Amino acid sequence: MNYHKKTVRDVDVAEKRVFVRCDFNVPLDDNGEITDDIRIRGALPTIRYLLGKKSKIILCSHLGRPKGKVNPKMSLKPVQKRLEEFLGIEVPMADDIVGPHAKAMAAALQPGQVMLLENIRFRPEEEKNDPAFAKELASMADVFVNDAFGTAHRAHASTAGIAAYLPSVCGFLVYDELYTMGKAMENPQHPFVAILGGAKVDEKLGLIERLLMEHCDYVLILGGMSYTFMKANGGTIGDSLCNDAMLDTVRGLEEKAEAVGAKLMLPLDNIVADRFANDANIMCVQSGHIPDGFMGMDIGPKTIEVYTKIIEQARTVVWNGPAGVFEMPNFANGTRAIATAVANSKGISIIGGGDSAAAIDQMGFSRKVTHISTGGGASLEFLQGLELPGIACLEDED
Ligand code: AMP
Repeated sequence: MNYHKKTVRDVDVAEKRVFVRCDFNVPLDDNGEITDDIRIRGALPTIRYLLGKKSKIILCSHLGRPKGKVNPKMSLKPVQKRLEEFLGIEVPMADDIVGPHAKAMAAALQPGQVMLLENIRFRPEEEKNDPAFAKELASMADVFVNDAFGTAHRAHASTAGIAAYLPSVCGFLVYDELYTMGKAMENPQHPFVAILGGAKVDEKLGLIERLLMEHCDYVLILGGMSYTFMKANGGTIGDSLCNDAMLDTVRGLEEKAEAVGAKLMLPLDNIVADRFANDANIMCVQSGHIPDGFMGMDIGPKTIEVYTKIIEQARTVVWNGPAGVFEMPNFANGTRAIATAVANSKGISIIGGGDSAAAIDQMGFSRKVTHISTGGGASLEFLQGLELPGIACLEDED
């Protein structure tokens, strides 16, 4: 996919109406308070740049999964308050999306003013990428800016459809994602090490294949998906997570790795438990020798030692997916050790969103890695070389 896209710097935004698709999908607690505002902070550079250009700014985002219906629990009101605190100016919010209130507010915007639309997913047309709805959104603005990388793999009205009707460019957050990950994948420095874990083996096979094609030197498999590989190799895995439908595909991948001379590595030892619980009885066993009544919950000390050495010598590291059930403290050791090794590696390190990003952040290593993607699913698809509808619709760089 071509990731060389125009940014807000490449179009005339001065005093223009600019529709900015952001990712304000922040976690809220039971009282509707924001528990982590990193996504709001991520949008500020683009908003501040546009304010400097005296644009008339219309901000748009989804929050949660309201499924096309108005749901006050998923209102963007808490985001409005936080934006006002960060920007130090009023950010009035429309209580509809393309209704009379929003349209009147957009028409009345003065240079250097910002407004926020209500949750775009309150409208069923959004996820259907309804062209008439996309056209209505576009009618409020002169320029479309996509700064929501987390939804760039979705073809929705506000992420892709709207681009058919307006000059369309990316914001700084999206540009940073595209440039850093695109460059690392285009010309990776070797040794190039990929670390793939987490539960969903089917979602990550495409990425493993691409990494092998891109001459990745090591693919280190861990986490819930590693047990499917162990079973495919004839190991016993007890009650561990396994995707039986993928056994043949996994064997095929191992053959591909051998053909290109890459090392596709599996854990050497595992911490196993007799229940899926933090206080279960545990022991450490050789991988592929997990007795009945036990399930793999984390990697063991030998795996940590071997994987750490490989990761620390890497010049390019891509990591997606935890090494174990890291939400339970007794099974977080492996993920912590991998995060430490990635932070200690000397070259480019890219964290593909989701749980691995949370782990790096929780351990205070955010500044020690090159890039933490804001999009779990989107970064997986981008690193695989798939076309993201929310990016493909933007204008190419000259
Ligand atoms: P994913 O969304 O595919 O990246 O998977 C992340 C989830 O995988 C996390 O919630 C982990 O708890 C889970 N996970 C990691 N290792 C295991 C395991 N050995 N057994 C079950 N779940 C796991």
